[in-house]
Amino acid sequence: MTQNPHPLGQSIIDRAEALARFSDMEGGLTCAFLTPAHRSAQALLAQWMEEAGMQVRIDAIGNVIGRYAADAGADARVLMTGSHFDTVRNGGRYDGRLGILLPIAVVGALNASGIRLPYHLEIVGFAEEEGLRFKTSFLASSVLAGRFDAALLARTDADGVTLAEALAASGLPGHGELAALQAAAVDPATLLGFVEVHIEQGPVLLNKDLPLGVVTQIAGSSRFQVRIEGQASHAGTTPMGMRRDAAAGTAEMILLVESRCSAVPALVGTVGQLLVPDGSSNVIPAACTFSMDIRAGEDDIREAAIADIVAGIQQIAARRGLSAQVDRIKPVFNAPCARWLMDQFSAVLRKRGLAAFELPSGAGHDAMMMQRITDVAMLFVRCGNGGISHNPLETITAEDAQLAAEVFVDFLRHFQPEG
Ligand SMILES: [Zn+2]
Repeated sequence: MTQNPHPLGQSIIDRAEALARFSDMEGGLTCAFLTPAHRSAQALLAQWMEEAGMQVRIDAIGNVIGRYAADAGADARVLMTGSHFDTVRNGGRYDGRLGILLPIAVVGALNASGIRLPYHLEIVGFAEEEGLRFKTSFLASSVLAGRFDAALLARTDADGVTLAEALAASGLPGHGELAALQAAAVDPATLLGFVEVHIEQGPVLLNKDLPLGVVTQIAGSSRFQVRIEGQASHAGTTPMGMRRDAAAGTAEMILLVESRCSAVPALVGTVGQLLVPDGSSNVIPAACTFSMDIRAGEDDIREAAIADIVAGIQQIAARRGLSAQVDRIKPVFNAPCARWLMDQFSAVLRKRGLAAFELPSGAGHDAMMMQRITDVAMLFVRCGNGGISHNPLETITAEDAQLAAEVFVDFLRHFQPEG
């Protein structure tokens, strides 16, 4: 028998596959907050953390937190790492999960070799990042960062279950009580920083033929829900010039988002949800609702685009006799990574003869919320299949996972606190 050339990488891939068997759907991976599949994934992560030599706790929002205790005693501060284990609908196996499974594999290897670190290392499996069930993202990291918005407890899922009810029924500590969610916040004074390993979710590293990259900043995003109202009338009898068609107006608005965001290289805009409520094939649409997601590497560029697009939506609506209600879901501002942490990843990459390539993240990550309370850095791992993510085709190689794990080991062993 030949030995596997990528033992850590292969174990990460095997575990990503094992975790993906818990799904809310048949024939694909959907893992929404607090579903049975989600609870099973949470339990398996806790088990793996324990097997790797960590003390594990589960907090009031369902985060699984494993601690690899320092050799220096209980006074040591905490370097935190981790990512999320919930997914989008029919998502990929590595988005988020790589950032939990890789550090668990690394701790398991350190523990097996009897190597302790001079600081506590905590791995967080964040219970909710994608916003699939309650249409609000960063739920789990907002609790850990002490930024939980109490109003969210009344928010309902598609079945009318509130977040408070879902938490109360979950058996999680605190049963969804606000005080428990607030008490789950980590004290920033105890933190050395937060680092997150994540699949790139884009083609940049693939196209540059690089396995790993160091993230410079996480781009802010702004999300909107837009409701357009017109007038329902008969599809057969209403002349074209007399219509107030909410869907046709929406189509024009979507093209506006596309053209405005195409005009600036660092800007992207997406309408990912589109609905004609109670629509019927023989009725002119009375209403149309859509989501709008606008992102840019710089807050100024994004805000300027938003101002233009919102004004444009109102103009289109006025011209067509429609009304437009544009609701902004709270914006997420840019989160710059800390240079001193980035430099420590870059030093490890260079030592191994790899390029210390730096790139921004267009996608939001848990590190974005953690950046509100501590310095953060991110290590991106090359995404296969043309860089596709939020899709079952999302993949990485065992070789890249192995390399990322080795780089992470080096980073942890040579980690120096700031200052
Ligand atoms: Zn993710």
